[in-house]
Amino acid sequence: MIAQNIEILRDRILRACEKAGRNRDDISVVAVSKTFDADRVREAAEAGIRDFGENYVQELQRKRTDLPDDLRWHFVGHLQTNKVRQIADYVHLIHSVDNLRLAKELQKRAEKAGRTIDVLVEVHTTDEATKYGVAPEETAELVGQIAELDRVQVRGLMTMGPFSDDPNDSRPSFRQVVELKKSIEDRGWKRVSMDELSMGMTHDFEAAIEEGATILRIGTAIFGERKTQ
Ligand SMILES: *Cc1c(COP(=O)(O)O)cnc(C)c1O
Repeated sequence: MIAQNIEILRDRILRACEKAGRNRDDISVVAVSKTFDADRVREAAEAGIRDFGENYVQELQRKRTDLPDDLRWHFVGHLQTNKVRQIADYVHLIHSVDNLRLAKELQKRAEKAGRTIDVLVEVHTTDEATKYGVAPEETAELVGQIAELDRVQVRGLMTMGPFSDDPNDSRPSFRQVVELKKSIEDRGWKRVSMDELSMGMTHDFEAAIEEGATILRIGTAIFGERKTQ
């Protein structure tokens, strides 16, 4: 089932790229495996997925020990500063950095681990009160502050569209992030890359591809409906 879902997903991504005139190689997929067990992740890995995303540190830690080490683990949920230590040695990309205190903790833990940690800055682009992320007007300042931390590398921005069935409702969010990316690039900060835009989930990834996403975070279209969130 998962292998077939992945095949359908790949086909949809390819068609969206063709429609948008984008190169398929510029888009990557993070399979968001929250609530699904290690066996489901293994199934997706056997179908060729290498990048997996989780929202909870404990769940990630548990799954990771059961799975091959060549998988890359992304953290896509709200990350508490006191949980950083547990994932600092291996996390591939953190999509959800939205405050300097968290970035400073990442700096400290990356130094201890003798590595650099790649991050995206999460931008809050909807008026929904429940979502995390830095305000659009504060994003450039936060990126500039993180750029001073030599063990934390900013790779780009992440956002989530509003809760809505209509993918077009996500376009204003995606466009706002594209504008922010451009304005941050214009500052010419040496230690900052804006190459990655993590946006688009199961219901709105085609719109995200059209608007410029480079990383899609896909759960349901790969693993099926989640029982709990
Ligand atoms: C769960 C989740 C996703 C995947 O959502 P689907 O709608 O199942 O594709 C993507 N990003 C984040 C941050 C998530 O929490």
